Amino acid sequence: MDNISTKKEQSKKSRILIVGGVAGGASCAARLRRLSEDAEIIVFERGPYVSFANCGLPYYVGNMITQEKSLLVATPELFSKRFNIEVRVQSEVLAIDREKRDIKIKNVTNGEIYTEKYDFLVLAPGSSPIKPPLPGIDLPGIFTLRSIPDSNHIKDWMVEKNVKRAVIIGGGFIGLETTENLAKRGVGVTIIEMLPQVMPPVDPEIAEPLQEHLKANGVILHLSDGVAKFEPGPIHDTIIVTTKSGAKFECEMVLLAVGVRPEISLAKQAGLEIGALGGIRVTNQMQTSDENIWAVGDAVEVQDFITGEWSLIPLAGPANRQGRIAADVIMGRKSSFRGVQGTMVCKVFNMVVAATGVSEKTLLRLKTDGKEIPYEKIYLHPGSHASYYPGAKTITMKLIYGPKDGRILGVQAIGEDGVEKRIDVIAMAIHKHGTVYDLEEAELCYAPQFGTAKDAVNFAGMVAGNAMRGDSPAAHWSNVKEPGKFILDVREPSEFKAGHFESAVNIPLPTLRNTLHDLPKDKEILVYCGVGQRSYYATRILRLNGFQARSISGGMMTYKSLKNLS
Ligand code: FAD
Repeated sequence: MDNISTKKEQSKKSRILIVGGVAGGASCAARLRRLSEDAEIIVFERGPYVSFANCGLPYYVGNMITQEKSLLVATPELFSKRFNIEVRVQSEVLAIDREKRDIKIKNVTNGEIYTEKYDFLVLAPGSSPIKPPLPGIDLPGIFTLRSIPDSNHIKDWMVEKNVKRAVIIGGGFIGLETTENLAKRGVGVTIIEMLPQVMPPVDPEIAEPLQEHLKANGVILHLSDGVAKFEPGPIHDTIIVTTKSGAKFECEMVLLAVGVRPEISLAKQAGLEIGALGGIRVTNQMQTSDENIWAVGDAVEVQDFITGEWSLIPLAGPANRQGRIAADVIMGRKSSFRGVQGTMVCKVFNMVVAATGVSEKTLLRLKTDGKEIPYEKIYLHPGSHASYYPGAKTITMKLIYGPKDGRILGVQAIGEDGVEKRIDVIAMAIHKHGTVYDLEEAELCYAPQFGTAKDAVNFAGMVAGNAMRGDSPAAHWSNVKEPGKFILDVREPSEFKAGHFESAVNIPLPTLRNTLHDLPKDKEILVYCGVGQRSYYATRILRLNGFQARSISGGMMTYKSLKNLS
């Protein structure tokens, strides 16, 4: 305890310098001041703004946010008056001298270079957009989006060049959010994505409805193909984007949204430890390999909450929490970062896609790497709220959990309403090491406008719980072609006629009890319906009558997504 209080005393009188004044840096600075009235705190920010809302940039480009000043969460004046924190904008930190404990700063407006001493240094330099070294990458009209000046350049270009066609390289959340915003300004958008799906954090069958939604909104999707080169077009100020497969797209503007890379130049120059993924290596107290230097946000590698693997998660929530934790630790508190779950949400036109925890893709990769985590999965398609109250929309969910203990490993969902609320609830369950049984029992708020008395979260737990208990074991569409299976469709004949799995036999649920004698006892019966509810009832009837039966998770709705992918 003595050590802690001594450190506290030192820290209170300390001089703390922070590099980077947006998510992680600004939250660290403000927290430091709340813990000490005596510390001297100076924030250095290379750009012209401190604490701006980079997450709002796509909406500023789309004129949904009309005023630049709305993006400014705080100003240097506010930091000074409210928190007694000095913020120096247009001030780039060039080097760290760990021996002397000082940093070299360049005033980017007048070129002046000077040094400042520190007791503690916090690095929150963020990440920079990846600009692959492709031919023509520096042509005018090719942009990245990271800062307010970036978005102003894009907005100016759009007006000056009367942009009608844009190509977005990369189907991650920055590319998708900007797609929506450009489309809303009347621009025809083509997305080129190297992977076979958009929104890489989720599994392909969850991304599939989003892809359909993008197409329905006029977006051209060009998947499984990378960009090879950019060339000036035949008309002044147009660009021709050529892909590796030889496809060509002409446009007036390109946005590169192929991911970000941690800003580690300062950390490298100072000889701090860098992780294998290229981020600054920190402890769970956010301390670097130098005990007087902390690092937070996009620039650092953090451990995955589920897998324990090092990962790079460039999201605002972790950056803010890490900034706060670094401040706590500098001020002698015993805070620590618990790891990242990658909880994310993205809205594109009317669709919302969200996820937390691990995806099946990640689990398959771990298996290939010899680090297998056993898992089971279920799909469901509950309503966003009571079906009798107007406006209910379907949510497609995929829940991944441990087959032995039911521990929740990850969940993904897509739909038009109520998606993020379900993911947030399950994110907290994952954080508390919850199981599918906890989801079954969760007491969640209900009125017809907001949910159902058994909420989608409860349903997810119940479907997985039923599978775990053996009441209704889950089968998947990947099982239907295995030998020795009898495929039973329990929907109404009209639904069956409209489309069914090729070898399926149709016995509608209401007639099932009277036709049990037609069903084989020597084969496993895989039952499906529209979304998985009637097949669950049928599976119960069959199992109670001595048949081996499993319900195909997610029914025809999941089948359609999988089929569209193949
Ligand atoms: P940043 O917030 O990027 O701040 C780093 C700052 O450090 C920069 O301003 C930079 O100029 C400065 N800097 C770097 N080097 C130096 C130096 N040597 N000297 C001085 N200053 C320096 N996340 C979400 O969770 N949800 C979203 O919806 C979302 N939307 C996004 C949309 C866009 C367009 C972008 C670009 C990002 C979005 N993010 C979103 C990601 C989120 O903004 C980042 O994860 C978060 O800002 C990272 O915080 P940070 O403090 O690490 O870095």
